[in-house]
Amino acid sequence: MKMLLVGAGLSGAVIGRALAEAGHHCRIIDSRDHIGGNCYTRRDDETGVMMHVYGPHIFHTDDAEVWDYVNRFAAFMPFQNRVKTTSQGAVYSLPVNLLTINQFFGQTLRPDEAREFINQKADTSIEEPQNFEEQALRFVGRDLYEAFFKGYTEKQWGCSPTELPASILKRLPVRFNYDDNYFFHRFQGMPRDGYTPMIEAILDHPRITVELSTPYDPAMAADADHVFWSGPLDGYFDYRLGRLGYRTLDFEQFTYDGDYQGCAVMNYGDREVPWTRITEHKHFSPWENHEGSVCYREYSREAGPDDIPYYPVRLVEEKTLLAQYVDLAQATPGVTFVGRLGTYRYLDMDVTIREALDTAGAFLDRTGEMPAFVKLPV
Ligand code: UDP
Repeated sequence: MKMLLVGAGLSGAVIGRALAEAGHHCRIIDSRDHIGGNCYTRRDDETGVMMHVYGPHIFHTDDAEVWDYVNRFAAFMPFQNRVKTTSQGAVYSLPVNLLTINQFFGQTLRPDEAREFINQKADTSIEEPQNFEEQALRFVGRDLYEAFFKGYTEKQWGCSPTELPASILKRLPVRFNYDDNYFFHRFQGMPRDGYTPMIEAILDHPRITVELSTPYDPAMAADADHVFWSGPLDGYFDYRLGRLGYRTLDFEQFTYDGDYQGCAVMNYGDREVPWTRITEHKHFSPWENHEGSVCYREYSREAGPDDIPYYPVRLVEEKTLLAQYVDLAQATPGVTFVGRLGTYRYLDMDVTIREALDTAGAFLDRTGEMPAFVKLPV
């Protein structure tokens, strides 16, 4: 059969590969002039540093099959994300761990003592946290919340943390030991030569053709037996019900002769500092040596129609609109919506790959009509 896949990011590449291996012909188009979507990496001409062009991407997963999958297409180097944060004139370790707690409160607590100490600060009257702020107050208390989460979150999401779902904070652990690895997952690493060659290798199959700088035209679907859409869900329908909200990022790039900040990611918890974080790209490839350095000062704001969508804003208003688009999608045969933009969800790379493999599997095993969503986004 002939497939049309819109978007040459992780979802399109992984689905395309699985379908091509099963004997189908896959035409993958992308409006950008490069593959890889927001995982795209390339070397900086001046310094030779591998750049995470659309912001930091660190691979981490508990899914052994997904880990095997990415290792099939790229050599991975060990990498653990050890994030620091600057808040109220001092530098602390993230995620909140025993070092953070002891430094912040000027204590020398052992794990059990710290647990007890934080329990006393936590608002245990909140039994079922309903939003981001309640989740933070319940688990770390007001002092740590205000130093590390409140300002950052207001900058990142442009709203009060009381309006955000608790699930966003659940991405971050609190640890009562000195483990400062940002992620819990068993498998963590970074592709040695960046993500672009990995995705190139996934796309390298005789039954896959990739066309870049090629925006979707509805006439293209006439030639295809099925369409996999990894662009914005509302974009498929020409935004006819209105636009789903996204946050976009602006990266202010600067170079530095030497080591600018000594770590890959430095967050800024204070509301007064306009950026959320600074990433120093060479520290994402600690096995390489570069004299020069390239950094991004990262700012978050509401995405306008011409901005690159990054984070879906899933507040009440968006969820109502999302439900309407989901209905519309389900009434549109021949198209399956996939990935972060196609399903309007905050997805990590490993989940994106897992769902892409499952989507291809569902297509190959289908008995009737292929559903619009393999995983319902509402
Ligand atoms: N967050 C925060 N302070 C920090 C880091 C994160 O309050 O120093 C909150 C913020 O709301 C953010 C969420 O936790 O959106 C998830 O953080 P993560 O680092 O996973 O975000 P990503 O790297 O995906 O942007």
